[in-house]
Amino acid sequence: MKAAVWYGKKDVRVENVPEPPAPGPGEVKVKVHWCGICGSDLHEYVAGPIFIPVNEGHPLTGSKAPIILGHEFSGEIVEVGAGVTNVQVGDRVAPDACQVCWDCYFCKRNLYNLCEKLAFTGLMTNGAFAEYVNVPAYTLFKLPDNISSEVGALVEPLAVGLHAVRQAPVIQGDTVVVLGAGTIGLVTLAAVRAAGARKVFVIEMAKARKEFAQKLGATAVFDPQEGDVVAKVREATGGLGADVVIECIGNDKTGPLAVELARKGGKIVVAGIFEKESSMHFNSVVFTEKQVIGSLGYAGEFGPAIDLLSDGRIKAESLITGKISLDDIVEKGFEELINRKEENIKILVSPA
Ligand SMILES: [Zn+2]
Ligand SMILES: [Zn+2]
Repeated sequence: MKAAVWYGKKDVRVENVPEPPAPGPGEVKVKVHWCGICGSDLHEYVAGPIFIPVNEGHPLTGSKAPIILGHEFSGEIVEVGAGVTNVQVGDRVAPDACQVCWDCYFCKRNLYNLCEKLAFTGLMTNGAFAEYVNVPAYTLFKLPDNISSEVGALVEPLAVGLHAVRQAPVIQGDTVVVLGAGTIGLVTLAAVRAAGARKVFVIEMAKARKEFAQKLGATAVFDPQEGDVVAKVREATGGLGADVVIECIGNDKTGPLAVELARKGGKIVVAGIFEKESSMHFNSVVFTEKQVIGSLGYAGEFGPAIDLLSDGRIKAESLITGKISLDDIVEKGFEELINRKEENIKILVSPA
């Protein structure tokens, strides 16, 4: 079968590889319909290895590079292994990308995103930029008929946004700032709206992304190139600052900025993945009793994400800005996202 295989930095090859074997006990084989390109795929392409094991096999899966990328996907079950009862051949599914041990302290408390042996599909074991992929049956969530396979591939990033919102954990009636309007910022904005926020301000510089934020219901979008965003948020909140700030960018300036944007006693949820460290004076949280909370991936948000998409409370289709075939993944996928970052939100890849 055809697959996009990561060999190293700037070395992703679309090539013929053996189809996965018949699924083992508790596993299923999924025929991939659509798989989105994630920022983390891009990071592995540009600057990897970051998450991909290269020297030793992963402790849970035993996998290491070369590895098939792709974790934001939908597909159809074509084969089930022994003991699988939650899904059947023919079901359309969106798989949670966390493959975990179910045995460590964190798994036993259902904080499975913090599993000691967390293996992310498509980074720490073969993923879905391929015609077929085998995954554990416990990762699977069925897609209802009114969610297309394209939108089904957005369940994973939406789960990230929902998790960030639930880390707050109450948003209803609050004024919220979302930093960044890339995929995660935009799905977080949609999730914040669905959670009943009073007002949602988005901080973003790129023109196309500002328009997306507006379309998805931002109360206002503030551009740091056009003036002091802290002053603007204060002005919009009676001088106080936001009740909740959700950081979805992950650069050295935006972490401290998120803390500044919150009101005294406010909450800062940090969901961005950072390349560098930032400096911050801890008195800015001590003197204000602000709470800084991390958010990593998701743990239990696939079901809610599917329901919110299915009943229309969240509309995500407009986030799909490109659909390409697997053969074109490097040129029209990775390179396109690097060179024309501003015009693109989510590019989906089909192995067909
Ligand atoms: Zn992702
Ligand atoms: Zn575990």
